[in-house]
Amino acid sequence: MLLQNRILPRLLLLPSTTHLTSQHLFRPSRFPHRLSLSPRSNALSHLAASQTVDPTDTEAPHGEVQVQLLVDRLFVPPGASVAAGDQEAVSARVLKGSNIVLGPYARCDAQVVNADFVKSSVRPEDCPRDGLPEFALVGRSNVGKSSLLNSLVRRKRLALTSKKPGKTQCINHFKVNDSWYLVDLPGYGYASAPHEARTNWDEFTRNYFLSRENLVSVFLLIDASIPSKKIDLDYASWLGQNKVPMTLVFTKCDKRKKKKNGGRRPEENVETFQNLIREYFEAAPPWIMTSSVTNQGRDEILLHMSQLRNYWLKH
Ligand code: GDP
Repeated sequence: MLLQNRILPRLLLLPSTTHLTSQHLFRPSRFPHRLSLSPRSNALSHLAASQTVDPTDTEAPHGEVQVQLLVDRLFVPPGASVAAGDQEAVSARVLKGSNIVLGPYARCDAQVVNADFVKSSVRPEDCPRDGLPEFALVGRSNVGKSSLLNSLVRRKRLALTSKKPGKTQCINHFKVNDSWYLVDLPGYGYASAPHEARTNWDEFTRNYFLSRENLVSVFLLIDASIPSKKIDLDYASWLGQNKVPMTLVFTKCDKRKKKKNGGRRPEENVETFQNLIREYFEAAPPWIMTSSVTNQGRDEILLHMSQLRNYWLKH
């Protein structure tokens, strides 16, 4: 199957170790082994030596929380390597609010200059055929998918297109910078939808995941302001078991009212979710904390997409 030929899924199968390198898995980079863009320093994170969530976590001035990381839970992108004992250097390369190391394929094409709705498709076969790389956004209804899409492209209402009657059950393609796609997939878990309709949507999106050759990564959105839902865990494990490349995007990380949200803070929900899916992944999948209210994670997601996309284009 073509999916097997995609290199990125192999990243999910890297053995868990304190010395990670992807160089033995990938052809040598044609880019120099240094960053080819000047990442904004505020997009970069800090690494902890020995614990994942720090209960005394420090909040940034605008309410963003730093989650501390173990080296062996980092996502090391193609062309990058991480050596234990080199924490300061690694720390400088981890995207803020994520476990994602910034590698040599992240480039200055990360920011969105223009974005346009292209088409709605009812079958994977009807999707654009120009072969441009794409990233699919998927998540439970109300997870904040439209808000994130609008935040990424800095347009207040672009994702409204996906919410128009008749489009909510479609694969909606948005072309970015005339060179790649953001794809809005139908939300899942509608409590009010008839069982039959839900099953159809599931089959429809699963077919898309398994057949779409230019799908670089699925971005699975999880609401970090509430405790994990079984349906999200099922979705993540299905993607893991089918080796569909996945990035976990935790949404609504600005919501910090403890009682209202089951007494747990977003970073605690993020940690729990990862612990629950760990058995399905031999190495930690990339994850990132976001908020469409504060725009936390926006630049970081775009940098992550840039490095995945540029690697994909070169191989
Ligand atoms: P969708 O159904 O997944 O497309 O979700 P929407 O983007 O329409 O968002 C659902 C609700 O969550 C709306 O009321 C949004 O205002 C709210 N929301 C979305 N993202 C965030 C966020 O990052 N923080 C907070 N506090 N609310 C959000």
